[in-house]
Amino acid sequence: MRKLLLFPFFISLLGFMVCSAQKQVIDNQLVNSYDNYLEKRTALLKADSLRYFDAAVKLTPKEQQLNQKLVALQQDMIADYKANHFFPPARNFYNSKAHIEQTPLFKLLKKMPKGGILHLHSGAMGNPRWVAQKAIDTREMHVFWEATNDKYAKGQLQAYAKDKAPKGFRPAYEIAKTNPNFATELVDLLTFDESIDRDSVDIWQEFEYVFQRINGFLTYEKVAVDYLVHGAEILIADNIQHAEFRTFFTSRFYDLEGNKNTEKEYLEILETVEKKVQTIDPDFTFILIQQGLRFFDKSVIEKEVFAAHDYRTKYPKWVRGFDLVAEEDNGHPTLFHAEQFLLLDSLKKATGVELPLYLHNGESNWASTANLYDAILLGTKRIGHGFNLFRFPNLIELVKEKDICVEISPLSNQVLGYIRDLRMHPASTFLRRGVNCVISSDDPLIFDYEGLSYDFWSVFLAWELDLASLKKLTRNSIEYAALTDTEKATAMAIWEKRWSEFIEIALTEL
Ligand SMILES: [Zn+2]
Repeated sequence: MRKLLLFPFFISLLGFMVCSAQKQVIDNQLVNSYDNYLEKRTALLKADSLRYFDAAVKLTPKEQQLNQKLVALQQDMIADYKANHFFPPARNFYNSKAHIEQTPLFKLLKKMPKGGILHLHSGAMGNPRWVAQKAIDTREMHVFWEATNDKYAKGQLQAYAKDKAPKGFRPAYEIAKTNPNFATELVDLLTFDESIDRDSVDIWQEFEYVFQRINGFLTYEKVAVDYLVHGAEILIADNIQHAEFRTFFTSRFYDLEGNKNTEKEYLEILETVEKKVQTIDPDFTFILIQQGLRFFDKSVIEKEVFAAHDYRTKYPKWVRGFDLVAEEDNGHPTLFHAEQFLLLDSLKKATGVELPLYLHNGESNWASTANLYDAILLGTKRIGHGFNLFRFPNLIELVKEKDICVEISPLSNQVLGYIRDLRMHPASTFLRRGVNCVISSDDPLIFDYEGLSYDFWSVFLAWELDLASLKKLTRNSIEYAALTDTEKATAMAIWEKRWSEFIEIALTEL
């Protein structure tokens, strides 16, 4: 029994000795090959990181110190979100907005000097509560306060002289007197909230209604200056020093007699705004990019191209470029208007004046939407949105070669139903492939938030960025601004000073 017992023991001992010797050899080989494997892995990681858009950024010793703290904070937050099965940048923005505001990261990002905001529609900035109050305080401002019909949307604002308003419009202050919830109800009609969770086509429909509601407010000449100053004040509070407003230079402002501003009056308004804004921040600058609507026919766009070129010639300080906006999958493709854009080459030759393009393109989830080919061929200086660039391998290379900057508006893309989980936003891959981007907010009034800090907060976590990325993204917003070289140098010097101050403050606070 024992022998019987011993025999298998002896066999297994022998087996163990043989195996052990073999294992030693295998282990040694494994160590060598594992070391080798790790070396190859490190080399691959390094090769990729050398391609990143921020590869050339050098951090100062203080910045390195802050970076360590910032990345540690980021990783702690991510670990916490993972443990709670809740990662805000992957969820509906409105469900986490209040949470975002409470985080030390948000408070820090608010103080970060962000340089410029390069993609912002002046018709959709500011605080909607301010708009509602201003409507109530402006005696002649009326509001359509009946169910939306074919002609008017409920909540549509328009200034009218006494007794001149069409049926259904009432003075806003009168409604506010009898309905204590009027301001809140109006804000609800001007903004999106957590109920916006449908297909982007439906969301765009809502979007158009909001523009219809607010347009008569912000184009009323007596409101215009205060509205623009208010919009700029919000940007300044978020440490933004420069803004490029996509706007309808041609539509101007109206008065109670139904007259539209002349060009001269329009310019006076801009100059008044500039003076007032500079009392808040003497370094703040803003310029305009004239926009047309992509669903108009060729003859309308041709006229707009000529008009914008004329404004660029006469008012080079204000008008810096041209763009076509509106829902991309719904309007005409960019190719439809290519001939009108090509006129700009002839205009440049004839007059010596260039009207640069800053085209909204690539804001689509459909593989067949290939407007980016046209945007790039037409020589766009920057691309508005451009998230479907990831589908076109040659174009990614061309964007880098031609040094075209992509204006990314992460929360806009999420709220409008294009990209729900921001970890999967294609811009994360653009940055890793060396494409230069900037962060923008597009239409923050409608999305019901202010400034750029919410967007930076979301992508800092979703794309696991670091201080070098933040530094490069904010510097890009000046390097790719529609400014002259001299203006850029001035703006960069201001940014650098503010950035060094920020590093000092952040090191003490974090
Ligand atoms: Zn836009």
